[in-house]
Formats: sequence, C-alpha cells, structure tokens
Amino acid sequence: MGGGALRRGAAYGASEDRTDSMSGPVTDAGVDVVAASATPQASMVEITESRSGHVGSFTVRRALPRRDRRTVGPWCFVDHMGPAAISEDRGLDVAPHPHIGLQTVTWLLEGEAVHRDSLGTEQRIVPGELNLMTAGHGVAHSEEGTGRYRGLLQGAQLWIAQPSTTRDGPPAFEHHAGLETCDLGAGQATVLIGELGGVTSPARRDTDHLGVDLALRPGTSTVALRTDYEHALVVLAGAIRVEGKVVEPGHLAYLGTAREELLLEANASARALLLGGIPFDEPVLMWWNYVARAREEIEQAHAEWMAASNRFGQVDSSLPRIEVAPPPWTH
Ligand code: MN
Repeated sequence: MGGGALRRGAAYGASEDRTDSMSGPVTDAGVDVVAASATPQASMVEITESRSGHVGSFTVRRALPRRDRRTVGPWCFVDHMGPAAISEDRGLDVAPHPHIGLQTVTWLLEGEAVHRDSLGTEQRIVPGELNLMTAGHGVAHSEEGTGRYRGLLQGAQLWIAQPSTTRDGPPAFEHHAGLETCDLGAGQATVLIGELGGVTSPARRDTDHLGVDLALRPGTSTVALRTDYEHALVVLAGAIRVEGKVVEPGHLAYLGTAREELLLEANASARALLLGGIPFDEPVLMWWNYVARAREEIEQAHAEWMAASNRFGQVDSSLPRIEVAPPPWTH
C-alpha cells in the first residue's frame, strides 16, 4: 500500500547501484541525487536495462533515469508498471505526494485508475486516454484504484522536465481522450504529445518534444523522425527489432539524434513508447518527486511539503499523505 509511514533511506545500501537509486514517485524514498547530463549522441542503438522500483503496491521497471542516461529530450523519468492484478479494494494506491518542476504523463494499456490532485481534479483514466499534470511551482496528487475494477493493470508513468520559463509557474491538469493516430505501415502510432506524421496532439508542451504509443503488427513499420531530436524506444509488450538489435520489455533503446526515419520490425504484436525531443540543455537535479536546478530549491520544497504548506495544497484522498526524510545532503 502507499502508506504514510516515514520510510527512511529505504534505498540506502539496499541497491546494488546506489548512484542510480534516486527517487521514485512516492514510497520508494530516494536518497540520492540525480544530476542530469544530457549528452546527445549521433544515430546509434544503445540498450540499457531498466531497474526495479516500487510505486504504491506496484513493482515497476524504471527505464529512466539511468546513470549513463539521465534524459531523452526533456523526458527524465519512465516507469513501466504492471501488468499486475488489482481488485476493487486494492489498486494502484499511490498516496498523495508532491511534485515541482515537471509534468507527469499517465498512459494505461490495461485497467483503470483515478487521478486526484490539489487543484481539485478527480479524473478516471482508461486505456487510450492521457492524463497530463503540470507541477510548476508545486502540486500534489494521488493515483488510486477506482474501486470497481478487477483485472490487470498495466501502464506507464513518465515525467517531463519543465524548462525554466515555466517551471516556477502555476500547476495545471489536462485529460485527453480520443487522441489521433497515424499509420506506420505495419502499425499505428497514437500521438500523446507533440507531432508525428502530420498529427499534432492537443496536449500542452513547454518544450519541443514528442511522446507516442506504438502498436505494431508483424512486419516492418517506418517512423519519420526529426533529425534535431534525440529519441528512445521503451518496449512495453512483445519484441521489436531495431537495426538488428532486439528490444524487449524492461529495456530502453537510446537511438541518438540525426535520424530521418526509424525502421521497426516485429514478428508478432508489440507495443512501445517512442520518446524524443530537442536535447534538454538545462542541468536537471532530481530528488524524490522534485525536479529542480539547485539543492536549495529541493530543500525548500520538501520543507514546505513536510509542513503541509499551502504551496502543495490538499488532495481529497482517503490515503495518508506520503512523508519521507529530508534530502541526504542535509543530515
Ligand atoms: Mn506523482
């Protein structure tokens, strides 16, 4: 369960890769700092393994950030959650927690959940729909079961680092159903954010980036890309071959920049997220659920969260708010 217990340094020492055991959204109390160094590289296929993380009662496969790959465009966090069985009284159960300086993207493949935030939003989400929350200066939210679904839950939650022009601005929330798709030959792309194949998503964008869901059939699909973007592929189901390398769930394939098109081969049905964007040129500092530029900003935000200040407001949730110890550099 999400739980409100103060969990101190859960990741300390327990992880084989301490420099990578940063935050999670929520109970996986991160104690390490992630300083992003966005070093875009030319066209390539570099496969990294996701690591295991915990979100509420779920085990997730965290594809970003990794030690050697902090960001892809402004995308700075990618969790693949499930598939896992949920029921009417046991769902995602991610209790209220804060964010600053980022947008959360929620996209489900199976099941349903409800988003509640300190703006007063209560939004059910099902597969094919997009939840996009902008934290800006501060917001709090929960992700919970709907109380009426029994079956599998599977999806992705991602973070987009906000640029300095908006990261201290007001929070906001958008829900988009009925997103448009474009044909890829042997598959279909749903454009969640940005533009692909003449289709433009209505979702808010503070930087120049792209997020699409790929549903592939057996055969070869072709995706036209922007050469000034860097891209990455995260396979959620099945297997996809990219330039002779097979990418499967639990991995991220970094594809570099300077690509005009991408050929994706599948022998059976496959599902993936294609992420891209202009390489993010601001130094990103991440700890727990905060994306900032300097430690002092994170210390201040966390002190305000722990003091239940108005900065993060109230979430109308039956789950207790999540509290964790202050950043490790302060004690
Ligand atoms: Mn969150």
